[in-house]
Amino acid sequence: MILDIGFDADDTLWHTESLFQETQARLEDILAQYAPREEVEARLHKTELANVRLFGYGIKGFTLSLVETAIEVSNGQVKASEIQELLMMGKAMLDAPIDLMPGVHAVLETLRAEHRLFLITKGDVLDQTNKIDKSGLGLYFDALEVVQEKSVESYADLFEKHSVRAPHFLMIGNSIPSDVLPVLELGGFGVHVPYHITAVFERADNDPAHDRFHRLDALAELPDLVAQLKGARRRAS
Ligand SMILES: [Mg+2]
Repeated sequence: MILDIGFDADDTLWHTESLFQETQARLEDILAQYAPREEVEARLHKTELANVRLFGYGIKGFTLSLVETAIEVSNGQVKASEIQELLMMGKAMLDAPIDLMPGVHAVLETLRAEHRLFLITKGDVLDQTNKIDKSGLGLYFDALEVVQEKSVESYADLFEKHSVRAPHFLMIGNSIPSDVLPVLELGGFGVHVPYHITAVFERADNDPAHDRFHRLDALAELPDLVAQLKGARRRAS
């Protein structure tokens, strides 16, 4: 029986990755005279991975990685005006309006009638809190949690904090490593709802082979899945 449901936020409740991709494309334009696009992309990803330990996830760290990549790829030749443009793009990303996925309000309204709902996101606390405010979705949730990493340990801490029993918990999100695997390991249900682009941190090579793993084409299908899982449980008992 599913009692509690956790939702990822970025690229699950609202679009985020498309903003990152647009900014990255502009970096590649600026650096086109120094290196091919694929090389710029690879260097940026390498820089982001190296920096995440220091900056955490989120737009501020991404913006600093853009600047670092621009300086390195251009061997220090990138213009101050171009650096300024990258910084402005980072600020514009932080300030961008929230673009909700289709059907989000209806899904949350339906499920909150019978379930505790948690919003569980990782990244920069200020940025994530601003997005939650701008989204207008905060009122649907019993708790809003911003964690540094979505790991077995951080989910276990949240379960303890909110008296969640893992076998009664379902997490839905666009990342298999962050939203699905740790929850399956703890004994909960993991639902993957893929986004058309996946950040380099959030890619997985294989689907988890697990009877508590599910995949949906869209968030709007979640209430039906939850109803099915409850039905299956009732028939089995
Ligand atoms: Mg996400």
